[in-house]
Amino acid sequence: SRKFFVGGNWKMNGDKASLGELIKTLNSAKLDPNTEVVCGAPSIYLEFARSKLDPKIGVAAQNCYKVKGGAFTGEISPAMIKDVGVHWVILGHSERRWVFGETDELIGQKCAHALENGLGVIACIGEKLDEREAGITEKVINAQTKHFADNIKDWSKVVLAYEPVWAIGTGKTASPAQAQDVHDKLRQWVKANVSEAVANSVRIIYGGSVTGGTCKELGGMKDVDGFLVGGAALKPEFVDIINAKQ
Ligand code: 13P
Repeated sequence: SRKFFVGGNWKMNGDKASLGELIKTLNSAKLDPNTEVVCGAPSIYLEFARSKLDPKIGVAAQNCYKVKGGAFTGEISPAMIKDVGVHWVILGHSERRWVFGETDELIGQKCAHALENGLGVIACIGEKLDEREAGITEKVINAQTKHFADNIKDWSKVVLAYEPVWAIGTGKTASPAQAQDVHDKLRQWVKANVSEAVANSVRIIYGGSVTGGTCKELGGMKDVDGFLVGGAALKPEFVDIINAKQ
């Protein structure tokens, strides 16, 4: 069975004082030992988060570049992320796609490089509102997933995060049925295009306005293997989301 996975994406929020408080809360909370927890910190706070968080809680970078090093002002590499003791990276987040113009091709190259250099990848996909309304959710999701899949040799370090763009930061959570429907179709796509073994083992997590109030019902869906949480990951409520799986 698949280990429940709950990621917190802090995005560009917090400072040492507030993140330090949040970390204290997480370290002293009773967390379900059957759930894998990873916190996505701003790059400047990766080492701070890693040094303060209990070792049983993982840390993720929120982005990285596609090569080891060089003249790429402002970027960080998987090698640097690992050098500060961090083992995960979030790639293809909708804010990277739609605020910073990252393409499927670039995201795929980043994914290949991150995996080759030993990082785990939280691979984000998701349709926009107009795409859902036009009935092309499945097509959009499959195309984004294919760009990741073409760049993945070993799926054991990949978590797929379904984050409908219309649900991110809007307070409009996908219904459990909507999430289950897309997760089921995604798993079928992986079965048909990668392998049955990977389809059965890959965690598919949901993100988009997950709260302490919505997490239990969502987490009860057959193909929802956890969450990627934004706003609520900055609050003590994140503990309830970590412990959502019954
Ligand atoms: P919110 O939980 O704030 O909607 O953000 C979701 C998200 O983008 C996580 O990566």
